[in-house]
Amino acid sequence: MTVPKRLLLVHPKASLPWLFEAAVRQGIDLVVIPRPGDPMGTPPPGVVEILDIDAEDVESVLAAHAHTPFDGVLTPYEATVPLVAELAERMSLPGLSKEAALNARDKRRMRAALAESGCHTPGFVRLGGPDEEADFSALTFPVVVKPANGLSSIGVTRVDTPAELPRAMAEVWEISGRLLDEDVELSGLVVEEYLDGPEYAVECLVVDGTVHVLCIGYKGFPQGPYFEEEVYIAPVRLEQAVEDAVVQEVVRGHRGLGITTGATHSELRLCADGRRPFLLEIGARFGGSGASHYMAEGASGVDFAGEAFRIAVGLPPQGLAGTKPDGLAPAVGVAANYIVQCGGQGVITEITGMAEVAADPRVDQVIEMLHPGDVVRPYPDFTGYPAFVLSRHDDYESAEELHDFIAATVTISYRPEEEGR
Ligand code: ADP
Ligand code: CA
Ligand code: CA
Repeated sequence: MTVPKRLLLVHPKASLPWLFEAAVRQGIDLVVIPRPGDPMGTPPPGVVEILDIDAEDVESVLAAHAHTPFDGVLTPYEATVPLVAELAERMSLPGLSKEAALNARDKRRMRAALAESGCHTPGFVRLGGPDEEADFSALTFPVVVKPANGLSSIGVTRVDTPAELPRAMAEVWEISGRLLDEDVELSGLVVEEYLDGPEYAVECLVVDGTVHVLCIGYKGFPQGPYFEEEVYIAPVRLEQAVEDAVVQEVVRGHRGLGITTGATHSELRLCADGRRPFLLEIGARFGGSGASHYMAEGASGVDFAGEAFRIAVGLPPQGLAGTKPDGLAPAVGVAANYIVQCGGQGVITEITGMAEVAADPRVDQVIEMLHPGDVVRPYPDFTGYPAFVLSRHDDYESAEELHDFIAATVTISYRPEEEGR
C-alpha cells in the first residue's frame, strides 16, 4: 500500500462537487483552506483535513507543511493564483512561476505579454486608475473598460464614444471597488477595443509546458454594455482552419504568459467574419471553480480535474494517451451549461420550472445559487446567477434544444426590494 498523496486545495467553492469528486477518483487526500466567507461545513469525501488558517499567512502554511508535508498545492480561485504560485515555490512543489501567475492575474500584464508573443491583440491602454492621464487617440471605438485584476466580469463595461469614456472609467472603478471580493485590491484599469464577434472558451491541461487542448466551446455573443454569461456548449463545430487557428492562438498565449503547468481556462472571440481568434484572457486555473471539469470531461473524456491534481502532486498524468501535445483532443460527446439569467430585479418571490428541468433525462445536475428571499440588483451590480443546468448530449443540436426548453420553462418572480420591510 502506498501512502496517498496530500494536495493542499486553497479557496475552493464549498458547494461545487467536481474537485472533491476528482480527489476521490484519483485516491488523493485533500487538505482544504476554505475561501473566506465560504465555510466547508461537513467535509465532503476526498477532504481529510480542513485548515483553519489564513492562506495569506504564508508562515502558517509553511508550518503546516513542516508538520505533515503536502505533495502539491492548487487553487481554483482566480484571486488566489499568485499566492498559490508563491506557496508552491516556498514549499518546493510543482506550480506556476510567480511571473506567469501575475501575467495571468493582471490584464495589463496579460495584454502586453500576449501582444509581445505575437497573439492577435486589440488596441489597448493601461492605467493605474480612472484619473490617470492617457492618450486614447489610437483606439477605435467602441471600447471595453475593465478592472486590471477583476473577475466574474465584474465592472466590465462597453463604451461607445470617447466623450463617455471618463465617466465610464470612474463608474467601473467605483463598481469594481465595491463588488470585488475583499481579497481583491483594485490595481488599475484596461481600456481595449471591443472585439465584435462570438465568444468561445477553451479548456486546457498544461503538462511540462505542453498544452493539451481538451475542448473548445461556444459561449454566446454578449454585446454589452455589461457582459452576462448565458451559455456554454462544448465542443463547438468550427471549420478546420478556424479550429487550427484557435488552438494555435491558445498555445501561443500560454507560451507568452509563461504558463507551464496545470489546468487553464481561456476565453476568446472570433472576429473578421469568425475567422480570426483574439484572446480575451487566459485564467491559470479551472474555470467556474471547477465547472470546467464537467465541460472538458464531457467533451473529451479526459478526467480534467483528476489529471490536474496528479500533476500538482508530481504524479504522471494517466489518461492523456488520446490527446495531442499542443493540439486538440478528439471529441467523445457534448457537454453543456445553461446559465439561468436573473431576468428581473428586486426580491425573488418564486422560481418555477426548476423541478421540471431537473427531471429532464438530458439534465445531469442543477446547481441552484439564488433562492426566494434573495435580492437581485440590476446590472452593473452583480448578484450572481440563479442556477447552472449541466447536461450531456450526443450532439450539439440536442444541447440547443434543451436550452430552448429551459428558457421557456424557468421563470423567476420578483417583488420590489423596499416593499414589506
Ligand atoms: P473577467 O476576468 O472579469 O471575466 P474578461 O476580460 O473576461 O473579464 O471580460 C468579461 C467579459 O466581457 C468577456 O467574457 C466578454 O464577453 C466581455 N469582454 C471583455 N473584453 C472584451 C473585448 N475587448 N471585446 C468584447 N467583449 C469583451
Ligand atoms: Ca478572468
Ligand atoms: Ca472572463
